[in-house]
Amino acid sequence: MDRKNRLINVHQPYYFFHWHHLMDHMKTLAVEAGAEFLFKSEVTDLIERNSRCIGIKYKDKNNKIHEIEGTSVLGCMGHKDPLGKRFGIKRAEIDCPTMKYYSVNAPQVNLSEHPNLQFYLIPPKMLDIAPKLPPAVAYVFPLADGEMEAGLMLRLGQLNGLEDVEIPDNKLMHKVWDHLTETYPGFSDFFKGAETDYKKLTVISNRRLFENVIPHERGGLIFLGDTIGFSEANGSSGLYFGMAQADFWVRLIRENMGSESDIWSESFIKTAKKRYKKWPVYRHIKKSYKDIVLAEKIMFKFCGSDKSLNRWWTPLMALLQMKS
Ligand SMILES: Cc1cc2nc3c(=O)[nH]c(=O)nc-3n(C[C@H](O)[C@H](O)[C@H](O)COP(=O)(O)OP(=O)(O)OC[C@H]3O[C@@H](n4cnc5c(N)ncnc54)[C@H](O)[C@@H]3O)c2cc1C
Repeated sequence: MDRKNRLINVHQPYYFFHWHHLMDHMKTLAVEAGAEFLFKSEVTDLIERNSRCIGIKYKDKNNKIHEIEGTSVLGCMGHKDPLGKRFGIKRAEIDCPTMKYYSVNAPQVNLSEHPNLQFYLIPPKMLDIAPKLPPAVAYVFPLADGEMEAGLMLRLGQLNGLEDVEIPDNKLMHKVWDHLTETYPGFSDFFKGAETDYKKLTVISNRRLFENVIPHERGGLIFLGDTIGFSEANGSSGLYFGMAQADFWVRLIRENMGSESDIWSESFIKTAKKRYKKWPVYRHIKKSYKDIVLAEKIMFKFCGSDKSLNRWWTPLMALLQMKS
């Protein structure tokens, strides 16, 4: 509900920016570095030889199939990735349904009143209109006076341990969103008189981390980013971490290119996997998954109801503060 207020000081700062600024800049850097963009083209399959990935097949805008060969393929097609299934990546185990909302005309958003991110924890069985809804978090990021990003994220870490909860279909997810923005105490205040600039049901890939990043016995392909859930599970941030992961692997491969004729030698694969597991960013992501499982277990399984959550709020906040 809207009964308790506490401020959690996060140790890392948040940066707000418009998506296209990041994308435009990344594109400029990639073009400068000699990358060629193939728009309206779709990767359809891998090219493999002797248990190694040596390239990809893609379909162009005229449905013509092409092949590109290369020493290393970075599999970073996000949650729409068509390739991971055969290596054991199950999207339903990695993705969490999420509503995303943005408004630049939200008269009730006032930074002097709400300068911070607002979170509303919704434990199971709390909403009459969706009694089987899994635990969820609704949030508002006030960006400027009259401007906000908001959303609703299902938290599925405890799905198997909770009784009578199930992932809602798209229709119910929209219904829940409308209900929350119209009536939920505190949360709905931000939406009074607000005009919707963007509203979409999508997914965030932060439910489970897929570990087998080099899926072929003799290498060649590396899975990165949202494809394998490489995002900070407790902050739902994937942008920095996916880029850092790409940076890590590209540097490692380039380093090896100078020293070995067979880039994907057995010893390289072994060393690379070892270095990846010791890499502080990988450890940070692993820890974020561990932390969120614990936090969700305490909040949604141990506390369970809104009454209990409110009763235990102060120690809970201390725990979240420690983990933030
Ligand atoms: C609405 C929303 C808001 C978010 N906000 C934040 C935030 O504030 N901060 C943060 O850190 N993270 C945020 N995230 C998470 C972050 O966006 C992702 O973690 C990150 O974009 C993952 O990067 P990626 O490169 O792995 O995948 P993506 O960004 O999904 O990129 C994958 C690309 O591959 C393309 N593709 C898919 N299939 C094919 C195919 N067959 N052939 C060719 N191309 C294909 C897709 O079109 C896409 O361009 C948000 C996510 C969503 C959905």
